[in-house]
Amino acid sequence: MIKVQLEEVRKQIATAAYEAKRDVNDITLIAVSKTYPASAIEEAIDEGCKDFGENHVQELCKKIEMIKEPVNWHLIGHLQTNKVKYIIGKTALIHSLDRLKLAEEIEKQSAKAGIVTKVLLEVNVADETSKHGFKVDEVMDALKVINEMKHIKVEGLMTVAPFVENAEENRPIFRKLYDLSVDIQKQKFDNISTNILSMGMSNDYRIAIEEGATMVRIGTAIFGNRDYSK
Ligand SMILES: *Cc1c(COP(=O)(O)O)cnc(C)c1O
Repeated sequence: MIKVQLEEVRKQIATAAYEAKRDVNDITLIAVSKTYPASAIEEAIDEGCKDFGENHVQELCKKIEMIKEPVNWHLIGHLQTNKVKYIIGKTALIHSLDRLKLAEEIEKQSAKAGIVTKVLLEVNVADETSKHGFKVDEVMDALKVINEMKHIKVEGLMTVAPFVENAEENRPIFRKLYDLSVDIQKQKFDNISTNILSMGMSNDYRIAIEEGATMVRIGTAIFGNRDYSK
């Protein structure tokens, strides 16, 4: 089933890229494996997946232990400051840098480990109270501070769009994140890149790609509905 669903998702990504006159190779599919067993990840690896997203530190660490193949691990969920030390050096990218206090802790732990940690700034574009992330008008000031942190490299922006029935409703959200990344680029921060736009989930990734996503985070459409009861 994973094989078939992956094929379908890849086809949809290619179609959306084609229609937006974009190079499909500029779009990275992150298979969001949270709540799924390691066997599901193995199956996706067999089908060529190299990037996996998890949203809890404990689950991520367990899966890193279990999966022997070299894959890129993405932390996409809210990160508690006291858990940073468990994942430093283990992630390809942390998508959920959502507050300055967290940046300070990532900086501290990365310096201790002698590494530079790659992150995305999470932006709460829709300004939903239930969601984490910097507000759009807080982003520039935050970047000025993070720009000085030598063990953090901001690679771009991430957003979690609202859950909507019609994905088209999220188009303005994606467009706003894209526009924000263009504004950031103009600031010419020396330590901040806007190469990555992580936006779009199972429900709305085609629209996100049309609006410039370079990473899409897809769980359900690949692995099926999640069971949170376990
Ligand atoms: C769970 C999750 C996803 C994937 O959601 P689906 O709707 O299953 O594709 C993407 N991003 C984040 C931050 C998530 O927590």
